[in-house]
Amino acid sequence: MPTYQASCHCGAIRFRFTSDALTTGRRCNCSICVRKGAIWSASYYRAGAVELLTGADAFAVYTFGDRDVHHCFCKTCGIAPFTRIAGLPDDYDGQAQLGDFRINLGCVEGLDHDALDVSMLDGRSL
Ligand SMILES: [Zn+2]
Repeated sequence: MPTYQASCHCGAIRFRFTSDALTTGRRCNCSICVRKGAIWSASYYRAGAVELLTGADAFAVYTFGDRDVHHCFCKTCGIAPFTRIAGLPDDYDGQAQLGDFRINLGCVEGLDHDALDVSMLDGRSL
């Protein structure tokens, strides 16, 4: 399985993760993702698949609503390289587990973003 290197814009946040080859992505229509305009990873990554190469003090965490998702962003450049699952509703039956990452594919080095097969995620309805 390939290992991908990723970073925010200024480089204060660096991380790497193992994944099946990245060929797909998701755009989300929820209130925050539509503002970020990012292409997100199609799948979640378990905490063990993602290695943070910089300290947690490089990023800030934003939450809203039910606070189940940590929207992490760089304190210096403002780029949001990933989100993490911090809580799951009692009736949740999806793929996510606590601590999972969803990665902003724009932060992944060497990826041909124009070649990604991007589909919509209806986050607004969640
Ligand atoms: Zn940064």
